[in-house]
Amino acid sequence: MTYRAPVADIAFALKHGAGFGAVLAEGLYGDLGEDVVDAVLEEAGKFATDVLAPLNAVGDRHGTPFKDGAITTPPGWKEAYRAWAQAGWNGLAAPGQWGGQALPHALNAACVEMWNSAAMAFGLGPLLTMAGIDALVAHGSDALKRAYLPKLVSGEWMGTMQLTEPQAGSDVGALRTRAERAPDGSYRLTGQKIFITYGEHDFTDNIIHFVLARLPDAPPGTRGISLFLVPKFLLNADGSLAGRNDVRAHSIEHKLGIHASPTCTMVFGDKGGATGYLVGEENRGMACMFTMMNQARLSVGLQGVAIAERATQQALAYARERKQGRATDLGFTRDRQGNVPKSAKADLGAARDGASPIIGHPDVKRMLLTMRALTRAARTICYATAVALDRAERATDAAARTAAHERASLLTPVAKAFSTDIGIEVASLGVQVHGGMGFIEETGAAQHYRDARILAIYEGTNGIQAIDLVTRKLPLSGGGAVRAYIEELRGTLAAVNAANDPAFGATGARLNEAVDSLERATQWLLGPQQNDPDTALAGATPYLKLFALAAGGTRLAEEALAAARIAGNGADAAARIALARYFAENLAVKAPGLERTVVEASDSVNAADAALA
Ligand SMILES: Cc1cc2nc3c(=O)[nH]c(=O)nc-3n(C[C@H](O)[C@H](O)[C@H](O)COP(=O)(O)OP(=O)(O)OC[C@H]3O[C@@H](n4cnc5c(N)ncnc54)[C@H](O)[C@@H]3O)c2cc1C
Repeated sequence: MTYRAPVADIAFALKHGAGFGAVLAEGLYGDLGEDVVDAVLEEAGKFATDVLAPLNAVGDRHGTPFKDGAITTPPGWKEAYRAWAQAGWNGLAAPGQWGGQALPHALNAACVEMWNSAAMAFGLGPLLTMAGIDALVAHGSDALKRAYLPKLVSGEWMGTMQLTEPQAGSDVGALRTRAERAPDGSYRLTGQKIFITYGEHDFTDNIIHFVLARLPDAPPGTRGISLFLVPKFLLNADGSLAGRNDVRAHSIEHKLGIHASPTCTMVFGDKGGATGYLVGEENRGMACMFTMMNQARLSVGLQGVAIAERATQQALAYARERKQGRATDLGFTRDRQGNVPKSAKADLGAARDGASPIIGHPDVKRMLLTMRALTRAARTICYATAVALDRAERATDAAARTAAHERASLLTPVAKAFSTDIGIEVASLGVQVHGGMGFIEETGAAQHYRDARILAIYEGTNGIQAIDLVTRKLPLSGGGAVRAYIEELRGTLAAVNAANDPAFGATGARLNEAVDSLERATQWLLGPQQNDPDTALAGATPYLKLFALAAGGTRLAEEALAAARIAGNGADAAARIALARYFAENLAVKAPGLERTVVEASDSVNAADAALA
């Protein structure tokens, strides 16, 4: 089963769940209208579905053989990348000054989801190039921008992001790669980086590495890190390629998943030092890297949504085909009149004739609903983060820009960690829906599961995201940013209650409880616990999940309300209300338990050392 980009769903989530409709209506992107947005999504959907999706399994099987320092990407991948770049997708949200199309981040986010659903190992490369472009635009000198941005934006060259070393993973401050000042103002880098995505490949003629390194007189830790641009090929004065720089891929890793994305060990300075150019200021590299990482963290969250969407599509298709046992029609949702909807009737017919499709079994339906609900909730959280980035850049008054910047900062760790956690969970459920066939590679369900597993690890592990949320994001504006967000959630829930529609069931009540739990846990974390890091950190991961369940559930309810407003009692509204209700009554109900975990985590974690002895 291949992937079909769910363009209508994506457009709906963007406009009605994530608030992009308001950005357009306020004219923050000038006269950009819904027609252009829809046309871009449509074209992206076609490219993802027709060109990229068929390459996914090929990439998994072929991998990226490494020989004599060179990497061969899977058959058809290089051509697909070039066609993708030529179509202008790489520079969708990049500044017009450098050849980009200056379209909204939110629109790009929707496209990033589609590239990664189609082939995650493909989408990962451009994701890093886009992050590098952001860092260079924000922090690079004019000369560096002129030399590198046009070709990075067009996709003629790709970028990499190089932080990790054997002793420096989550603890970036422990890195040792060394940069020495050269008389001409450039730097010479020596050292080794590991796990570098697309560190070497054959997609493009040049590869632009963004590398963190330490000057000889740098202060220890993260305050002594600088960011350097290190090209694979140096440039002549006219911009053409000169000789090879002193950087090379030494080897590649053999991995659980994303086989078509080369993961390289990189060596700098075999011949005396790789030439690097400072981005930003000396010892201020972490600030630049954060520009890259924030963009990349949101995009990795989108990868979680992407893999979840693809796994859900595949599981649904399988569950409609595979027949086992007899299901009663009790297993099907009824409409408001108590009738079984038309779409389920064919399956029911099959049930009467003999074995029925497994989608008719309530337990399978529960798995499929969980998959769909988690995917859609994570999608609106990610898109809302991108919308906040657009507002932070474009809002007309400074206070609105600051508030939007804080909103994006608050939501980024939630978008990254929740969406990737559910990406893994949904892919795992996808395997389960397939039964034994899920464990057999032929169906493709197993590839999604294997591919998904990295998402909770790279771009800052999900544990690190939770710590970021609790220690750096909750205190923004003295807790004002998170309180404003919770207020907004309450506004939506008031509208759900006011709608007084029986189809919502206990949606309003369950989500109110979830938001109450979120509010109490937030207040608790913003209280004296702030001065006791171990107490707060022990509950960071359950807090992030609590946040996401309250937020995701409320956003789904908001989408359902919007669907009801637009389409009256049409099928789409009924489906969205049913999904919001499922989320509230089955998933958001975990919130009070998570609140308890947050508040009691430290005691139970610290008291349990003996259990690990
Ligand atoms: C396929 C792949 C691609 C990658 N691509 C890139 C890339 O392109 N560029 C790049 O620079 N890196 C890349 N990485 C590296 C990746 O970002 C790191 O693996 C990741 O940041 C975790 O670091 P680590 O592996 O050293 O794990 P560790 O830091 O050793 O973490 C191990 C465990 O301890 C936890 N932990 C560590 N410190 C703390 C703490 N302070 N508090 C609480 N928990 C903690 C972690 O959450 C984790 O569960 C890639 C890795 C892989 C596998």
